[in-house]
Amino acid sequence: MVSEFVEGWTIAQTLGEGAFGEVKLLINRHTGEAVAVKIVDLEKHPDAKNSIRKETCILRMLTDPHIIKFYGQRRDGNLEYIFLEYAAGGELFDRIEPDVGMSAWEAQKYFKQLVAGVEYLHGRGIAHRDLKPENLLLDENDNLKITDFGMATLYRMQGKERPLEKRCGTLPYVAPEVLLRPYHAEPADIWSCGVILVAMLAGELPWDKPTPDCPEYRDWKAGKYIQTPWSKLDNMALTLIRKMLVPLPSSRATLQQLKNHRWYQKRFVKSLAKPSELTPVKKRQCSGLDLSPLEGVSNPEDMSMAARLCSSQPEPCPRTAIVMEKQEQVPSFSFSQPAHIEDLILNSQFHCTQQQTSSSQSTYQKLVRRMTRFFVKTNHEETLKELCGVLEKFGFSWKMNVAGVLTIGTVDKRKMKLVFKANLLEMGEHFLLDFRLSKGCGLEFKKLFVKLKGSLDSIIVKGPIMWPIAIATNSVP
Ligand code: AMP
Repeated sequence: MVSEFVEGWTIAQTLGEGAFGEVKLLINRHTGEAVAVKIVDLEKHPDAKNSIRKETCILRMLTDPHIIKFYGQRRDGNLEYIFLEYAAGGELFDRIEPDVGMSAWEAQKYFKQLVAGVEYLHGRGIAHRDLKPENLLLDENDNLKITDFGMATLYRMQGKERPLEKRCGTLPYVAPEVLLRPYHAEPADIWSCGVILVAMLAGELPWDKPTPDCPEYRDWKAGKYIQTPWSKLDNMALTLIRKMLVPLPSSRATLQQLKNHRWYQKRFVKSLAKPSELTPVKKRQCSGLDLSPLEGVSNPEDMSMAARLCSSQPEPCPRTAIVMEKQEQVPSFSFSQPAHIEDLILNSQFHCTQQQTSSSQSTYQKLVRRMTRFFVKTNHEETLKELCGVLEKFGFSWKMNVAGVLTIGTVDKRKMKLVFKANLLEMGEHFLLDFRLSKGCGLEFKKLFVKLKGSLDSIIVKGPIMWPIAIATNSVP
């Protein structure tokens, strides 16, 4: 069963959840165009009205390769629909291996794209005010897109800057002066970029909040860098981060100063190892100090493709999906500006009715790339039994909805609420157990996923899987 949204447009997948509602993937059945739609029920969230107005007003002003594109919006009764460019690569936090991070090559690539996006925003006098890996999406080519402009604001008009007053953001990423107010927009966003860089390079956040009562933050201010995450960083990265995480905003590096830094300009070697295989020393080698080719590898691109094909838990990849569709004589995806977007914005007949899917429609499903999933060798019933046993062992609460999706709740080490969903999807001869974050910190969710995966090890498929020839047959996640 899939949902028909507007004539010709199918709801193929729930992509995620924001503060005010769900984001879904829409696919045009005839053209293959893909669009993300944020759906907000204004009756349930009356306070969302103002935030949506601000967000769409700001999004309308923006056109940049590193900012998610806004296609339009419309109201249907109490429901507000916001149509956005679809980011098929998922969220940046999903690329961060807990306690490890990612290779310096990857971190630098994403960091440069983040800086480019933020530079564009600041050039237009706009502050994002909630930069964090959960708000950085990736497109099908792994290019970073800044999203979620719910807290963004215009801080400069006609060359005149205004100081900001509103305390907003997410505590581990927020700059210290934002908690004290008033503050300047640009250095506050730059601070958040610094914390994101730490998360990418070390797989952990440096502190819960930048306040004097937080021991990790006190240590940082006192120049104590012997503990993690700092001990995982090489000196060059640490010097850059020290320029960004300067408590005094007026002494913090500007975007231009970041771009001139040696780490930013360094040519890193693309690492072929998984982040977990990168010890700090290896990480340093892979981060550019060791320029010799890896043993037996002549072409790194070939190698990474081979690694993907042989992977025991390959992830759904939109590009492979396109090949598959061609075999089935159905249209391939278009990730550029959809030509039929007006169908969505102008159509007055929104009908989220359920209808029977055909196999070609179902091939469009499960496209967003996620690491927090694995294939299991057990059947539906056995898998749920195993999963619920593990959830019970961990003391998590959970409930299942009518579609069979489990909503699991717990608190993280900061005592912050962590809610995520588990969905079991039939993919050919195996089931795919797919987890996605609903509320809470992305890194904590990834840590928890690793623990859950470890406890379910006995049912995980270890050998190679023929992906993605298998066609999904069950309901929309
Ligand atoms: P938001 O309401 O903007 O916080 O979005 C909630 C979640 O939905 C995000 O964290 C993403 O996982 C997902 N999401 C939002 N926008 C998109 C998009 N344009 N493309 C793909 N996924 C998205």
